[in-house]
Amino acid sequence: MASDYPLTPTTSPTPAAERERILAAPGFGRYFTDHMSTATWSADLGWHGHRVGPLEPFSLHPSAAVLHYAQEIFEGLKAYRHADGSVWLFRPEQNAARFARSARRMALPRLPEEDFLAGVEALVRADEPWVPVPGNEESLYLRPFMFASEAFLGVRPATQIVFSVIASPAGPYFTSGLTGVTLWVTSTYSRAARGGTGAAKCGGNYAGGLAAQLEAEEHGCDQVLYLDSAGEGNLEESGTMNLCLITADGRLITPPLGTILEGVTRDTLLTLAAEAGLTCQERPITIEELREGAADGTVTEVFAAGTAAVVTPVVGFKGDGYAFTVGDGEPGRRTAALRTRVLDIQYGRAEDPHGWLRRVL
Ligand SMILES: *Cc1c(COP(=O)(O)O)cnc(C)c1O
Repeated sequence: MASDYPLTPTTSPTPAAERERILAAPGFGRYFTDHMSTATWSADLGWHGHRVGPLEPFSLHPSAAVLHYAQEIFEGLKAYRHADGSVWLFRPEQNAARFARSARRMALPRLPEEDFLAGVEALVRADEPWVPVPGNEESLYLRPFMFASEAFLGVRPATQIVFSVIASPAGPYFTSGLTGVTLWVTSTYSRAARGGTGAAKCGGNYAGGLAAQLEAEEHGCDQVLYLDSAGEGNLEESGTMNLCLITADGRLITPPLGTILEGVTRDTLLTLAAEAGLTCQERPITIEELREGAADGTVTEVFAAGTAAVVTPVVGFKGDGYAFTVGDGEPGRRTAALRTRVLDIQYGRAEDPHGWLRRVL
């Protein structure tokens, strides 16, 4: 049975007028709701102290293991308000299961999946007024995370751990319609190696990716695209999103799992693309194959997939000594259709034939 997260309401909630001002233009990751879920784990007690309380800073000893050895994982998912006012999560069981896999990889304790879900749902209930009424793809972004809080400088899995969930209202990722991004194909950095942490959603992967992101920006690109670390030129992912190609003969091709992050959006799109008549292939694709395909018109569209932006059209690539566009350099038709299809299910505008939605309120 799932643990309860009893609520201790904040005594100083954000005034309703200020909340409405924030919800009118929330951006991404800038504003936070009034509450947070927490639970703690210790080697002797296991998980205990589950609660929802006021959003507040953590108090950490300067030797806390997370600050030195980055023993930390996180998740990202959204709560969607439907037209009838009800509030839903999209495939949160997938996030719970991935959180458990990430925990195992980072030698963190396993949080039962039902306790992950209960912590997320308790926070959504406590902060229900923060779930935006969607005018243009607004949602409440939920950020579950777990870190090593033990005060100890020795190197071993920590014996004191914190699990928490915070929430941040999110506006439309694309404010002026669906625009495409360009990716910088880095030959300086790699994101993950075989046996490494590429498949875990951990903060360390992101810290290691920041220099590559700066390199992309120096070359006038929006995001970085990583190739495999073995030097075989295989496409991996863009650091926060998975990559998919669409071909003129109706295939959707995406790199196989292994060193990439197993995206819920990626998995969702593989299902929806097949239903839309595309033939889906999970297989290695080299940057040469992509370059040639873009040049001779076999690859007609490319997009990146992840919870935050859902589906992001990729219209161009740059690398050391080359640059090319995909199609006519505009977001593709099938990309836009897949994006609309996911959003229609998430916002309850279409049937949910796979039972992906989970009602909270
Ligand atoms: C979270 C994440 C994704 C996207 O996963 P979703 O479950 O679709 O949000 C892709 N790549 C990386 C590195 C990620 O951390």
